[in-house]
Amino acid sequence: MAPGSNGGDRDALPPDDAFTLAGNGTRMAILRALWDAYEPYASDNAVPFSELFDRVDVEDTGNFNYHLGKLTGHFVRRTDAGYELSAPGFRIVRAVVAGGVTGNPALAPSRVGETCDRCGSPVAVAYEDGITWVRCRSCEGYWPQRGGEIFGFGLPPNGLRGRDPDGVLDATIAYSIRRFETMIDGVCPECGAPVAASLAVCDDHDPGEGVCDACGSRFLGVVSAVCDSCKFHWRSPGYAPVSHHPALISFYDDRGVEHVPATWAAIERGFGWVEERVPGAPDRLRLVVGHDGHERRFTLDRTATVVDVER
Ligand SMILES: [Zn+2]
Ligand SMILES: [Zn+2]
Ligand SMILES: [Zn+2]
Repeated sequence: MAPGSNGGDRDALPPDDAFTLAGNGTRMAILRALWDAYEPYASDNAVPFSELFDRVDVEDTGNFNYHLGKLTGHFVRRTDAGYELSAPGFRIVRAVVAGGVTGNPALAPSRVGETCDRCGSPVAVAYEDGITWVRCRSCEGYWPQRGGEIFGFGLPPNGLRGRDPDGVLDATIAYSIRRFETMIDGVCPECGAPVAASLAVCDDHDPGEGVCDACGSRFLGVVSAVCDSCKFHWRSPGYAPVSHHPALISFYDDRGVEHVPATWAAIERGFGWVEERVPGAPDRLRLVVGHDGHERRFTLDRTATVVDVER
């Protein structure tokens, strides 16, 4: 490894060059042909030159050769047996195949089986621009300034495939809650870079029946995680880092409640935990979890890490 390099950057391509490299019909057709030929778990996925040429709809071998040469070393790897996609090549084709680049499906607000924990009314699910929005049709939800929103979580467009609105809601929760757990564990789920989470506790919190003027939220504590590398970001009430803590899961399990963090029931339960300040530690937040007269108190520090569990 060269001094001053971190290994991972050795063959890094400036972003503008990456767009130029892939931004050509013949080159995309070559990447797509390698993708079509690819079989997960096959012992060798290399496509011989002549076969690759046959798979791509281009007349002129010289032109084909030129574009294949441009891709090789970046999105395509050459082996003794032929050509195959490299890791960056997979990323670019997957983005296209999964519809993240070209597809923009929508789902009009649709009633689902779940109900709002605040008012008991049915909730509606809508999908717009890569986000599944869950809104209460009767009350202001948890984010009154956003039209009754209970939450809005990301889901790639392929997540809508073959699913009814209830299925879209379940898929969104399964997909997004685990990605947030990844962020809380310090790893960006989008690009893998290190991520630092932080907790903000409002100094002057007074939400009344709506949101607090000082912090703009109904919740006393808000957890944020932002990836400096790719700008993937997430903001959540303080329940999220507690929801997959072993002491929380066993507390519920001991009382016959199966707490699975990536479910509607767990999110609703979490929204109901009582937030408290920690005397003498204004940057900390305590969440009081109660069930059948029993309690557990979880303290989060400014990095949104559970640092104390009290019985
Ligand atoms: Zn409601
Ligand atoms: Zn506030
Ligand atoms: Zn990232």
